[in-house]
Amino acid sequence: MKIPETGQSRDDVLSTLQSFGANDLDCRDGKALAFVFHASEEASALAERAYQMYLWANALDPRVFPSAMKLENEIVAMAASHLRGDSEVVGNFTSGGTESVLLAVKTARDYARATKGIEAPEMVLPVTAHPCFLKGAHYFGIKPVLVPVDPTTFTTDVDAMRAAITPNTVLLASSAPSYAHGVIDPIEDIGKLALEHDILFHVDGCIGGFQLPLFRELGEDIPDFDFKVPGVTSMSMDFHKYAYCPKGASVVLYRNAALRQHQIFTYSGWPGYSMVNPTIQSSKSGGPMAATWAMLHFMGMDGYLDLARPLVAARDKVKAGIAAIPELEVLGDPKMTLFAFGGDGVNHFRLCDAMARRGWTMHPQMQLGELKPNFHINLIPLNVAMIDQWLDELREAIAEVNSSEASGDMAGLRMALEAIDFSKLTDPQIEGLLEIGGLSDGDLPEGDQAEINQILNDLPSEVTDRVLTLFYNRLNRYKG
Ligand SMILES: *Cc1c(COP(=O)(O)O)cnc(C)c1O
Repeated sequence: MKIPETGQSRDDVLSTLQSFGANDLDCRDGKALAFVFHASEEASALAERAYQMYLWANALDPRVFPSAMKLENEIVAMAASHLRGDSEVVGNFTSGGTESVLLAVKTARDYARATKGIEAPEMVLPVTAHPCFLKGAHYFGIKPVLVPVDPTTFTTDVDAMRAAITPNTVLLASSAPSYAHGVIDPIEDIGKLALEHDILFHVDGCIGGFQLPLFRELGEDIPDFDFKVPGVTSMSMDFHKYAYCPKGASVVLYRNAALRQHQIFTYSGWPGYSMVNPTIQSSKSGGPMAATWAMLHFMGMDGYLDLARPLVAARDKVKAGIAAIPELEVLGDPKMTLFAFGGDGVNHFRLCDAMARRGWTMHPQMQLGELKPNFHINLIPLNVAMIDQWLDELREAIAEVNSSEASGDMAGLRMALEAIDFSKLTDPQIEGLLEIGGLSDGDLPEGDQAEINQILNDLPSEVTDRVLTLFYNRLNRYKG
């Protein structure tokens, strides 16, 4: 594909763009139980307007665009106060939860190198920690040491965490709540551990940091998980989740500036401008910051509480509704609006397909050691009125799955896999497997995913990772 020889009309450009979205998820029908975070049409329209106003502002240099730094500093201050930090807490606006966590991980590495001379850094975290921590470990050369979670509460095994600490540990991490199960780790216990061993401790509040304080305000029993807990040294919180801001909006916070100092990259030893980058982006649009600032001011705490109130009731309705379905159970004790559902009475991958055919988006989650396959949803205000219908169709879909056979389309791939020695698996072999599975043409798989999910579930996760990497490497290119 080439850049068009001649420019096209505004209308043509926009209508073509419009058509690209035809197969995208419907974000407004209330049947998306993942991916979508939406407050109201009015709030979204305001965020769009604010985004546009500062779209061209560049946060690269505050001397040139002081507005960007003002927006950032005010957003960070509001975030710090929401998470009960004092005036010492500092932080930065980032492009998302992953960037926030990457920065906290990199900061921990550099802090430990500077203050303790640690050159072979390690990080201890539960298997339920979001993979962005593992991405950080990979990018920044840190050894990740994974510890198990309790198989019934799905929260971090603190004794295992204690046992995994070594003189090279630079960071402990945990979640409030975890994405997969929506449960809050024992933050106070881990905070004590961090203090005892003088190690930094990051609480990943990417999905819960904004909502949990609202639930507490509404009288829910939410354990302390924020800067109120001694030992917590950094936190991440996404605005593009439960603050309902457009994507590209998160914050990383540190207990004090002495920590954040190790986040900043500065270089003036070249012939160009002196580069000072607190975050991963260098040139950085003011759009997401303006949208976030606008959303926080438009909604206010009263507006956010009004949205949170029905979600508390919706959470309890979902819990009760699932408890009444013999084939399913809620895993752990989710305090917020994220859930994992398990149970031996139904194949969860096929159930997700049966629900997808009915228009519902849910996440299948794979087996991990003794944690069995399950599925995940999160609730937003748009879902509240849909819960009865969801529960009805869920029961219907379970009956359908349990009274029919799996398609068996992937039998060829299964047989091929049985003949393979994974310890010697080569990339060309994986390409061959993709071919046998009909996945080698570089297109997205269509229709039911249960069989391929089951196969990926059954493979060792290192093999799954390689398969997905090669698959994506084919998918992610222009094919004309
Ligand atoms: C979403 C999420 C992340 C990653 O955030 P992105 O914005 O997708 O990069 C990290 N941790 C948790 C708990 C999350 O829910």
